[in-house]
Amino acid sequence: MSGNAVRREAIWNVEAYVPPAISFNVAEAPGEIFGLNVFSKTVMQKRLPKSVYKSVVATIEHGAMLDPDVADAVASAMKDWALEKGATHYAHVFYPLTGLTAEKHDSFFEPVGDGSSLAEFAGKTLVQGEPDASSFPNGGLRNTFEARGYTGWDVTSPAYILENPNGNTLCIPTVFVSMTGEALDHKTPLLRSQQAMGEHAARILALFGHEDQKVVAFCGPEQEYFLVDRHFFLARPDLLNAGRTLFGTKPPKGQEFDDHYFGAIPDRVLGFMMDTERELFKLGIPAKTRHNEVAPGQFEIAPMFERGNLAADHQQLLMTTFKAIAKKHGMECLFHEKPFAGVNGSGKHVNFSLGNAELGSLLVPGDTPHDNAQFLVFCAAVIRAVHKYAGLLRASVASATNDHRLGANEAPPAIISIFLGDQLADVFEQIAKGAASSSKGKGVMHIGVDTLPVLPTDPGDRNRTSPFAFTGNRFEFRAPGSMQTVAGPMTTINTIMADSLDYAAGVLETAVAAGTDFDTAVQDLLTQIITDHGNIVFNGDGYSDQWPVEAEQRGLANLKTTLDALPELVTESAMELFERYGVFNHREMHSRYEIGLEQYALTIGVEARLTLEIGTTAILPAAVKHQTEIALNIGALKAAGVETDTAPLDEVSTPLAALRAGLSSLRVALKSDVGHSALAEAEHARDVLLPAMTEVRSAADALEELVADDLWPLPTYQEMLFIL
Ligand code: ADP
Ligand code: MG
Repeated sequence: MSGNAVRREAIWNVEAYVPPAISFNVAEAPGEIFGLNVFSKTVMQKRLPKSVYKSVVATIEHGAMLDPDVADAVASAMKDWALEKGATHYAHVFYPLTGLTAEKHDSFFEPVGDGSSLAEFAGKTLVQGEPDASSFPNGGLRNTFEARGYTGWDVTSPAYILENPNGNTLCIPTVFVSMTGEALDHKTPLLRSQQAMGEHAARILALFGHEDQKVVAFCGPEQEYFLVDRHFFLARPDLLNAGRTLFGTKPPKGQEFDDHYFGAIPDRVLGFMMDTERELFKLGIPAKTRHNEVAPGQFEIAPMFERGNLAADHQQLLMTTFKAIAKKHGMECLFHEKPFAGVNGSGKHVNFSLGNAELGSLLVPGDTPHDNAQFLVFCAAVIRAVHKYAGLLRASVASATNDHRLGANEAPPAIISIFLGDQLADVFEQIAKGAASSSKGKGVMHIGVDTLPVLPTDPGDRNRTSPFAFTGNRFEFRAPGSMQTVAGPMTTINTIMADSLDYAAGVLETAVAAGTDFDTAVQDLLTQIITDHGNIVFNGDGYSDQWPVEAEQRGLANLKTTLDALPELVTESAMELFERYGVFNHREMHSRYEIGLEQYALTIGVEARLTLEIGTTAILPAAVKHQTEIALNIGALKAAGVETDTAPLDEVSTPLAALRAGLSSLRVALKSDVGHSALAEAEHARDVLLPAMTEVRSAADALEELVADDLWPLPTYQEMLFIL
């Protein structure tokens, strides 16, 4: 098929689409299926001897080591449960640094002498696996000749059954480390950072009279995504291979009308959402809100917040589930940060808080001044952490794909700042004046001495332009990209919080030991933090042209691209920080930096090759055909003695020449030898490939507006975004 035959057929297929029959009882209460496929504490309690169960719970809740005998008992119960659920295989699921999810499947059944087979699954198999690690990125941590990597069960994240028409699999969430114990994945550092943060948060709580508290990090990830019909998706090699369109002019009707946001959800999409939610419930993933997003074809799902590492695992599982179910409904789910140029991109807001079941979120102001003082200490710790390590936060969300979003006037800017809301900002302003004796106006606020005002539990105004916003009981980090795992940002937040809480606890402990009254010590600490770090607080419009100027005056960095941000990972202070809290050693930091560069260059390399291919084999021929038709038409008219205007020919010939020129410089750029260092390749991608791709695209997009519709080979933005 050529030209728009592909597109016509796609549209026809969309019209003829019949939704899959609903395969479940709609009336079934979510409560009945929630966690159906999870080897949860409830299941363990039913199936394990009491002592074994207690021991596992101790591991889950207090991080105690899993005893080998216990592991055997758990493995045996888990295997029986999985077999009853129709599982034939088990898989250690891990999260390599590609950002994807990896699984190594093994059969439960091992042949025995008499030709039959026996289901085998010992404790050792449960707690440790040994996948060949040579094909996963390691940034120099492992040579291929020592390709072994180990996976080990993260006991705090329950095993689950993944259903498939061809047989079910028992999935065990695991860490993935090298032979020398260095992290090759996203989970290991997340677990390490949670532990560090928890330890120092507990010291603060102890100072406020809450002894022996176990504090954990909570994460509620909001996921934005696009849905497009699969017929269009398959007719777009760029979407298929790069996850984003490398060509395409803006549709005549864009998102200007704002009529999609919170508008009615199309039936077909609603069917998809119901189906995904049911699957998520079975996996114990607490899906909660769903709505349309700003752009046409864009939607959002927000599961309830959970413990950080569990939320991260669930988030990965959610993305896999969405992809699979969208396919079932004849659609493709796009998680790319910027699938369509000129249309709103997708993010993954990471809602962060810390706390525990007994005390709730420690980022909620309390009813008494004493509680509020504690809240303000945690809040100040966030302010200090974000100010001191803004560069690391920026680096934690850096990728070639997220670069299209950050700072592009829609997502939060690449400048990291904190939004507190007017009321809380005002409280901190008063605290800042606390050191000065001549404060006027609202007067000086003394923590725990004078009554603190009732603090806002909802800051009211929701500032959507801030990358790090207080939202009443949590902070919302809005810069993470829709495609990335939340583990990276969460690891950074936990670690910089560990540092701030460690610092605050140290200051308070020392002051108290020196005989300073506790309230005064808290007051002094808060005043000092807000004086040193208050520059990071910004309640204004992050999209305004004025903000970058003001941010610079405040000394805040504007790390626009991934290559500006990644070096933050290997500064002396960053490496010292991560090493101090046992999250990464120097080698691990360097490896993350290298992998960041490699992934950046790889992503843009693929896009550049696709741009060249599609430009050369699809767009150029269509434009040439169109040009020829016009030329023939002019020739024929002239021959017939009809007066003609040659302007239409020039109109198409100019962008066509530009397209040819662009393609040839892209071809040269792709062939040029840039050496083999990851940095050189990444810089080449940014400085040479990206501009060459832009040149090709602008010529091609100009042609799209000229070339006859029946010749145009690619589904248009109009079609992809509005036909669902
Ligand atoms: P909004 O549109 O206001 O941002 P959503 O309902 O879309 O709100 O998403 C809010 C997200 O924040 C949910 O994932 C929710 O579970 C999460 N969340 C709520 N409270 C907390 C908390 N204390 N800690 C972490 N995440 C939280
Ligand atoms: Mg939100």
